[in-house]
Amino acid sequence: MKRTNTFAVRPLSEDGEQLLRDLLDASAALWNEVNYQRLMRYNSEDGFEGGVWDADTGRLEGTYKGVLGASTAQQVIRKNSEAWRGFFGTKNKYHDDSNTSVTEHPSPPGFRGNEDDGRVLKTVIRNTSYTVEWGERSRLEILVGSELKDRYDHTGRLRLEIVGVPNWPNYEKQGRLDLWYDEIDCTFRASQPVTVSNDARDTPLASEKAALDIGANNLVACTTTTGAQYLYKGRELFQRFRETTREIARLQSKLEDGRYSSKRIRRLYLKRTRRRDHAQEALCRDLLERLYSEGVDTVYVGRLTDVLETHWSVETNAKTHNFWAFKQFTERLVCTAEESGISVEVRSEAWTSQECPQCSSTDRTTRHQDTLTCPCGFEGHADLTASETFLKRHTQKAVRPMARPVRFEWDDHNWSESPRSPVRESPKEQRTDPSTVHHDGNVASGDS
Ligand SMILES: [Zn+2]
Repeated sequence: MKRTNTFAVRPLSEDGEQLLRDLLDASAALWNEVNYQRLMRYNSEDGFEGGVWDADTGRLEGTYKGVLGASTAQQVIRKNSEAWRGFFGTKNKYHDDSNTSVTEHPSPPGFRGNEDDGRVLKTVIRNTSYTVEWGERSRLEILVGSELKDRYDHTGRLRLEIVGVPNWPNYEKQGRLDLWYDEIDCTFRASQPVTVSNDARDTPLASEKAALDIGANNLVACTTTTGAQYLYKGRELFQRFRETTREIARLQSKLEDGRYSSKRIRRLYLKRTRRRDHAQEALCRDLLERLYSEGVDTVYVGRLTDVLETHWSVETNAKTHNFWAFKQFTERLVCTAEESGISVEVRSEAWTSQECPQCSSTDRTTRHQDTLTCPCGFEGHADLTASETFLKRHTQKAVRPMARPVRFEWDDHNWSESPRSPVRESPKEQRTDPSTVHHDGNVASGDS
């Protein structure tokens, strides 16, 4: 079965870093040149003969193989060809009336980067042109072209240190490696597709279940059948998202008549999206690594529509919906889970966030900020309780007694364990203006 190892890598020296940047930049330049030649033919521009596949990629390969090495130059070109074939395939579906899966006309493959921001540093390396060694000091070694070696007075392959532990250290085959620079957190990253034997799936431990409750103040509350509970705090992230949204609205109100956007506005949108995506991606990775080591094989996720319809205020709904990009989040979760052999199941979680775990009442409970209370005497963290109730509803498996919950905060790079870990209300949360908090919703407050 196919799986993917994703990991960060670090050059060992400044020269090594510069060499790697040059390699990634040249790869993007080659991609752009190939793409340009093809796009001009696709658009039938004057001076460009033939169709997309008539572009002279052999000449470009010749130009770039000195820097990239022949195999990497070929891979970059091949990847661009795949992008074009994908585009034509989607376009055919769009024009095929009997096929309803594509409703918007697709765009041809794009360029890597733009004039303002420079090129996107990214390459792709053939399976025989890199090696990975897993161990105490894991490392990646990649092939580089002779011109780059001369430029940096380097011999052999470029060695990079691997940060972290892979999900699949034992595999039969490795595929084409993607290697890129992640601008958001200034880190080089790689993704390595691998084929692992089917036995690898049969981890004896992997039969535990987990359930997620999704919200805005707490992005994810999670309970597992092993008795672990995790809480990913989203308040600050959500607030920054809304601040940027307000700033966009302010700039929009100042635009001249007839103008709808500006470079500044587009950049803010992009920044807002990237920041959210980055945090979401990191959250998925962090959470699934934990679930993997807990031996979880299935994760239940509620449908956000359930949550919204049952107990969120309309106004907060719209904003939260936008912030969450829920579909995208579940897709990301599914992809990340797949790498670890964990399956994600979307289930209805209607009412779980209002149910008292002690007496099962749903109409006597009261939610105030992060606390759920019931006249029967129950009092607990509302979102964690909801994920626990949700889990119990969907699994036959006994749920072990809960350990102390672990709480995480986002610092723009990582989700790290909060030092002051009592999950119950902190003074910061007391600032919430109760008038904007729906009595039983996961509502972020203070919005104007
Ligand atoms: Zn109760």
